[in-house]
Formats: sequence, structure tokens, C-alpha cells
Amino acid sequence: MNDIAHNLTQVRDKISAAAARCGRDRREVTLLAVSKTKPASAIEEAIAAGQRAFGENYVQEGVEKVRYFREAGQSDLQWHFIGPLQSNKSRQVAEHFDWCHTVDRLRIASRLSEQRPKDLPPLNVLIQVNISDEESKSGIAPQEVDALAAQVAELPGLRLRGLMAIPAPESDYERQFAVARQMAVAFARLKERYATVDTLSLGMSDDMEAAIAAGSTMVRIGTAIFGARDYTKR
Ligand SMILES: *Cc1c(COP(=O)(O)O)cnc(C)c1O
Repeated sequence: MNDIAHNLTQVRDKISAAAARCGRDRREVTLLAVSKTKPASAIEEAIAAGQRAFGENYVQEGVEKVRYFREAGQSDLQWHFIGPLQSNKSRQVAEHFDWCHTVDRLRIASRLSEQRPKDLPPLNVLIQVNISDEESKSGIAPQEVDALAAQVAELPGLRLRGLMAIPAPESDYERQFAVARQMAVAFARLKERYATVDTLSLGMSDDMEAAIAAGSTMVRIGTAIFGARDYTKR
């Protein structure tokens, strides 16, 4: 087994163990492999090990990978855009990705909807919530979710699937859980109102257990699968 296949097995085992500990069905939690900065060859190894959902942060890099794998005939992959999105890059996301996790204003949502090619299914979107209230991070306040969700749900090119958050780094499990719980409550409220809502994208390498215990349905893991990132080449 190569490193990536081995790492994937370990991450999957961790997800299963975390789900089992809180009595959840393992199948409720999707693993999103975050492949930003990693070459196509690394993604190929993950595909060979059974991984199908990949997350990318940078529009240009992500689009190149989507194209590469489509041209290679690998049509069963799911591409998730998880980085900050500027309006001038929205078309690229609308045309190439299957999901966008970082919708945090109507302007971006409207553009994505208009720019989504008519021959593709609606773009799956998550509303990003700034749960730790950090000034530097993107996302809307939890009390703004209802209003934005109502607007997003009306857009024909989009399918509202749920919420996403990147909580501030926190090593204490109880505090991780408390923040994750707030997201789970907001998610449950939204789910009651919209039949399309089924996804809470929450949990990274260091807070995955707490996120799963709180109700996350999608964890985003990069380094633990692909190894440390090298940013010097960017
Ligand atoms: C990079 C990134 C991840 C993965 O982070 P790792 O620490 O490498 O596991 C998850 N979510 C988002 C939004 C990211 O940008």
C-alpha cells in the first residue's frame, strides 16, 4: 500500500470510530479529501484507493484538475470548491465544480446561479457561517443564515444543501464540541425548512471527532491524507 492509500485507511478508521462512539451510522459522514496544492498524481493514488470527493481552495488550480480528470475519462469524481470566492472567479466555479461550500452573500450566489451551465445539474451550495466570529474569516453570522438561505433557495441554478464552517483552532475537545453544536443546531433548523438540506460540512484533522459527535455529515481532511503542503511553489 502506498502512503496515501494507507493514510486514507487510517482517516476512514478514525471517522468510523468517531461515529461509533456517538452511536451514529458511519455512512452519515462523507470524507472530503482536500487536495489543494497537491499534484494530479496524488489525487490518482487516492482515487485508486476508492476516494471520489475532492476539495480545492484555489479556483485556477482546481479548474485545471477538474479538466485533467474529465479529459482522462474519470467522470465519477465530485469536486468541491472550499476556498474564499471572489465574484470575478465565480464563473469558473459555476462551470467546473459540483459543490461550492463558501457562499456567504447573495451577490456571489446570484452569479453562481446565472453562470451555472444549463446542461449541468444545479450547483450544490453550502452557506458558510462565521461561527467563531473572527473578523478575518469569511462567512455570515448565524443569525443571518435564515435570510440568506431563503434567497439562495429561490435561485434556479443552485441547490441549497446546508452549512459549512471553519471554527477557530481550538485544542480542547469540550470547546470544539460546543462550537460544533451551535452549527448543528443551525443546521437542524435549516433542514426542517428545506427538503434539499442534508449536509453540514464541519470538522478538519484536529476537530473531526467533536464535529462528528455534534452532527457533522462531511469532514474535510487534507494533510492527514496527502501529507504536509508545500506553499513555496505557489
Ligand atoms: C485546507 C483546508 C482543509 C484541510 O486542512 P488540513 O489541515 O490539511 O486537513 C479543510 N477545510 C478547508 C476549508 C481548508 O481550506
